[in-house]
Amino acid sequence: MPQSTPLLLMAPPARPSLEAWLRYFDDLGLGPFYLDRTAMELPAADPVAAPPPTPAASPAPVLPAAAGPARAARPQDAVLPVVPSLFEVASRAGFEGDTLPRIREDLGDCKRCRLCQGRNTIVFGDGNSQARLVFVGEGPGHDEDVQGLPFVGRAGKLLTQMIEAMGLRRGDVYICNVVKCRPPGNRQPERDEIATCSPFLDRQLAAIRPKVIVCLGGVAAQALLGTNKAISQFRGQWFDFRGAKLLATYHPAFLLRTPSAKSDVWTDLKKVMHELGLKPPKPKPRSG
Ligand code: SF4
Repeated sequence: MPQSTPLLLMAPPARPSLEAWLRYFDDLGLGPFYLDRTAMELPAADPVAAPPPTPAASPAPVLPAAAGPARAARPQDAVLPVVPSLFEVASRAGFEGDTLPRIREDLGDCKRCRLCQGRNTIVFGDGNSQARLVFVGEGPGHDEDVQGLPFVGRAGKLLTQMIEAMGLRRGDVYICNVVKCRPPGNRQPERDEIATCSPFLDRQLAAIRPKVIVCLGGVAAQALLGTNKAISQFRGQWFDFRGAKLLATYHPAFLLRTPSAKSDVWTDLKKVMHELGLKPPKPKPRSG
């Protein structure tokens, strides 16, 4: 289908808005990234992964489009994008040799979306700029907004424990979020907010070029994979993400509410450890 066809078919009120978005991504140098996608089927369920949780334990689908009562399947439900490598994204966008400090500088005192209105601090990301493993969450919460660092509240402590259980230190990995400002009342970020902020996440990932990306929760996974499927349908499965390997697992905040899901997450993290050649640390001998 010619590239211009969707614009021609679009209802008149939506067209100026889409054109404005396309100009915005062009301004960021990311136009080719959004024009090059082709679809692939979701891989078959991983036989190693635990079966999807029961409805009671399953997290609600996290983007507005996925919430609510059952609806007819749409074509985009069944597809995930095949996208260029992290290296290609950086070079196509003119960000070859991009660095985290330069991306932070470009972000500036960002007011590109409405989330700037309620934030205290922009939470850019934290950790090793050459990490082999990057965790991507949804967005800052209260503690993160106050401290300007990702995952420092209760869920952050649990994430730190998870990282240490993998035989790593928190400083070995990089941690960031899909949106960098706290959504009011800890609501989920809206689609337009994600679309506005995620080009900076794309640049962070392209600058770090990790071997493995772990999405924490459905919002991060849906944003990076371009799907609106509920995370319970693809948790624990590997996807190619621009040359990196991407796996989605439950958000630590969900584990605080649903401790029974911890075993699923540990199963997922063991896959990551295997991919990175990590072994869990030996338990410390008990004193006395
Ligand atoms: S969420 Fe992202 S795009 Fe929106 S104001 Fe904050 S930094 Fe800017």
